[in-house]
This record gives sequence, C-alpha cells and structure tokens, in this order.
Amino acid sequence: MSTIAFLNIAMHGRVNPTLPVVAELVRRGHTVTYHTSPAFRDEIEDAGATVHLYPGGDQPLPDPPMPITLVDGLVRAALDLVPPVLTDLRRIRPDLIVHDNACVWGAVAANELGVPAASSYTTFAFGRQVPSPTRASLGLLRGAKPEYFTRFAQSRRRLARRFDTRGLPVVDLGNISQPLNLVFTSRAFQPGADDFDASYRFVGPSIGSRPSDPSFPVDELRGPVLYASLGTVFNADPKLLRTFAGALSPLGGTVIVSTGQTDPTALEPLPANVIARRFVPQPDVLARAALFVTHGGMNSANEALYAGVPLLVVPQGADQPLVARRVVELGAGLSLRTRDVAEDSVRTLARRLLEDPRFRASASRLLAAQHEAGGARRAADELERYLRESRPVSQHSGAE
Ligand code: UDP
Repeated sequence: MSTIAFLNIAMHGRVNPTLPVVAELVRRGHTVTYHTSPAFRDEIEDAGATVHLYPGGDQPLPDPPMPITLVDGLVRAALDLVPPVLTDLRRIRPDLIVHDNACVWGAVAANELGVPAASSYTTFAFGRQVPSPTRASLGLLRGAKPEYFTRFAQSRRRLARRFDTRGLPVVDLGNISQPLNLVFTSRAFQPGADDFDASYRFVGPSIGSRPSDPSFPVDELRGPVLYASLGTVFNADPKLLRTFAGALSPLGGTVIVSTGQTDPTALEPLPANVIARRFVPQPDVLARAALFVTHGGMNSANEALYAGVPLLVVPQGADQPLVARRVVELGAGLSLRTRDVAEDSVRTLARRLLEDPRFRASASRLLAAQHEAGGARRAADELERYLRESRPVSQHSGAE
C-alpha cells in the first residue's frame, strides 16, 4: 500500500472532484494526506484523508483577479508554503504527490523531494482550443500594469533561486502538467480532446462523498425542479439571482437558488415556491432537476451533464464563456450574456429548454459519456498504475 499526498488551493471547485478520489484510495487501503486550509478541513476528513493545514488560515483570492496577479499570488503563496509543506512531507514520506494544476507549491515540493507527481485538472485541459488563462500571451502581458509584471518577475526569480522549479512553466503557472494529468471531465465534453497526449487521462466527473445536509428538504421538492446558481466564487449580484427566481417561478414546481457569496435575504421578497440558500447539496438537487441556470463553472457543468440536465449558461468570467460555448455546441443547453438577463429572456430560454426534447436528448448522450469516463474509480486506477510505473526497478521485482 502507498502513501499519497494531495496538495490543493482553497477553492470548492478545485477540491470537490478530488474528494471521491481520496475516498476511493482510502477504501483501497492507501494512506492519504491532504494539505488544505481550514474551510475544507471537515469535508476532506470525511473523505478519509489526514488533513494538514497550511499556516495562515484561509487565503483570500488575489485582488484584482487578473492573470498576472493570479500567477503572482500563486508564486508568493509558494514562497511562503513550500518550507512548511516540505517539513510535513518529509515526515509523511509520500510515494506520490497529487497537486492541483495551479498548486505551484505542490509541484515544487515534489521536485524537492524527488517524488513522482500527478496534476489534477478540474477545468478543461488547456490546449489549442482551450487556452490556459495564465499562459504567457501578449494579452496577459499587455493587460498587466507594469508594476504588477515587475512584482511577478521578482517573485518568480526568487522562487527559482530558492527551490527546484525544473519543469514548471515560467509564467503559465495555472497549467502545471506532469507525466500523469487527471482531467475531471469526459473526452466528449473536452474541446479538442484528440490534441492531448496519453499523459492526459479524461476520467470524467468525480462526484460523491460530499457531507450530507439534513437541513435541506431534498425529498420535499416538487417537480419540475428548476435550479439556479452562480457558483461559490463570484460575488453574485442579488438582482441577477432575483431575476432568475422570478423568471423560473411560474415554470417550476420548486425553484432553488444557491446564492453563494450573496446573502439570501438580499433577494427578498421571493415567490412562495422559491428556496434561496447560500449553499445547497448540488449533486442531490441536480439528480432531481429539469433545468440548471448556471454561471458555467466547470464543476457545475460537469455535474449537470453527469445528471443529464440541460443548462442555461450565464457566464460570469474565467473559463465560463468556453464552457458555455461547448454546452451550446453539443446541443445540451443555451447561453445568455449577463447584460441580456431579464425575466422575459430567461423565461423564454428556460421554456425552450424544458419543452424541446432535443436538449434533454443531447444532455443524456453526455450523461452516458460522463459516466463511462469512470470518475473517481478510474482516477484511482490511473494513480495506482502511475505509482507502479514510477517505482524504482528494484522494487518491481519484489512481491506485488
Ligand atoms: N456547490 C454546491 N452547492 C452550491 C453551490 C456550489 O455544492 O450551492 C458546489 C458545486 O457542486 C461544484 C462547486 O461547488 O462542485 C462549484 O464549482 P464550479 O466550478 O461550478 O464553480 P465555482 O464555484 O468554482 O465558480
């Protein structure tokens, strides 16, 4: 049995798909440790890993959230975190490190310890059709104020001087690949899947192992269940969420609005059939939903297609316009720009999605692909295979 160390950044969307993989590895008898921040401690412990907390508590996202400040934030976090993480890992003695594709300190720690590493992609994999948001493009450099760029150049140089950064991209630090890259979507959903070499394994959505929420009335929902969420990261405008509620309420049995960073009381007054909460058990809700109005976060899209639910995507930023385009291209939903959101426009598109069976049919085709990709079990298989292949030759001859 092996010891596997996960290292991640503090975002639900980055952590969630890894939890069922952790649970599966633990079920197979491996020891799993997980470096995270306090907000994620309980759910990771529930999945069966031993949690190690980064010093400094929950880290805020970089501000302003632009590619150059993001990569700078990642490098600065790495400068702070590599030393304490190495102290922990020297005690843990992992056989394998699994890090998020933006977890710079995970990749650096693997180099420093000479331990094989796998990278976890909870977004699309980045290639010709899906450009990495942090790649060194002209747009990235041009978009940055010179002082941001100077700051980044300084911190990046400092990282390279202090630690072993071999193999890490110089700028594109949100896209750190390894000899094994687990991509948590199916080949069917990934744009240009054939462009990727065999180090990219499209294992599909990894869903499950979430703590249950007994306070949510999941068995009392009336059909058709219509669900709206703009995710957990973006500060959703309460007006936008209220418009979704108002547009969907006449079409739905129960309408559920997840408000994320926004206080649900800011949406009031709401129609009687609307439940507004900061956080809902999304996979359970999607299992009962007829329609999902979403910002198009990758996990949300993956989870909706895993449940065969058509989407109305209202992208708010990041990779969401790409997700929206892919959903529309595959016939599994429609998309609407934020500035075009009004009760009428949302209701009209929602009605089309509910009434035209072609959307459901396309979403169901993707449901099959998303399930066939194998999910957490396939991810665990890939990690075990990689472990066997990375083991020094002398150990191969021993009993297995
Ligand atoms: N999520 C949830 N309940 C909510 C809102 C979100 O469980 O009320 C989960 C959702 O299932 C997904 C993650 O939070 O796994 C959101 O990730 P996504 O990539 O869709 O968006 P982000 O929040 O990162 O923008």
